[in-house]
Amino acid sequence: MSVLELDAVVGGYGDTQILHGVSMKVDPGEIVVIIGPNGAGKSTAMKAVFGLLNLSSGKVSLDGEDITNMPPEQVVRHGVCYVPQTSNIFPSLTVEENLEMGAFVREDDFQPRLRELYEVFPPLAEKRRQTAGTLSGGQRQMVAMAKAMMLEPKILLLDEPTAGLSPKYRGEIFSIVKTVNATGTPILMVEQNAKQALKIANRGYVLVDGKNKFEGSGQSLLDD
Ligand code: ADP
Ligand code: ADP
Repeated sequence: MSVLELDAVVGGYGDTQILHGVSMKVDPGEIVVIIGPNGAGKSTAMKAVFGLLNLSSGKVSLDGEDITNMPPEQVVRHGVCYVPQTSNIFPSLTVEENLEMGAFVREDDFQPRLRELYEVFPPLAEKRRQTAGTLSGGQRQMVAMAKAMMLEPKILLLDEPTAGLSPKYRGEIFSIVKTVNATGTPILMVEQNAKQALKIANRGYVLVDGKNKFEGSGQSLLDD
């Protein structure tokens, strides 16, 4: 069974239809990438998972459970974490305080999880008492991902994690994405840097004008 599945999703913002039938899935352990031209609806497809859109038809399911139009906070509680393109970290708080905020819906002791994540992201352990605003762009992105991982999500959604970063940091982010995936978390991400993203992807979807245009393995799309 797929972890996440969008089935013929149609919808948009208010009365404006953006998605005209988008289908995609993420299977256990996979990295799946959504690529396509600007304005194709890539970010919008991600927002559809989060109940941030008006869906007029289609279905979103998580581990086989129907989560179509479920409000964002409930989607989070069901195990989907989302790192938006615009950073949701607080520059004046320390790295550790930002990570603690990521644990907001946890009722148990999150300290063990924090220690686990410091092992996955060693630079954050080193900088945990520094304010997030003093970090490099790549490290801030690392904080945003670690914050989302505090909840041990069933799937992590990343909206252009390398946006605005120099090529040097881009490579770093893709390797972090692989590391996070290797801890067992499937990942669905939107990326502009299609070539680099497809290299680490099990599968990719090309969206054009709010519709599926192509899909295939990361390698087969690279070859096209
Ligand atoms: P992509 O991620 O592929 O660049 P988006 O999903 O961001 O594309 O945007 C698809 C279309 O939806 C664009 O025409 C954009 O202007 C429009 N759009 C995005 N967000 C909103 C919004 N909050 N309200 C209305 N229209 C939006
Ligand atoms: P992207 O880089 O994904 O294409 P944009 O620059 O289009 O993003 O949008 C940036 C922000 O503005 C997003 O949060 C998006 O939802 C919002 N937005 C984009 N287009 C519109 C629109 N036509 N009306 C209202 N909000 C929009």
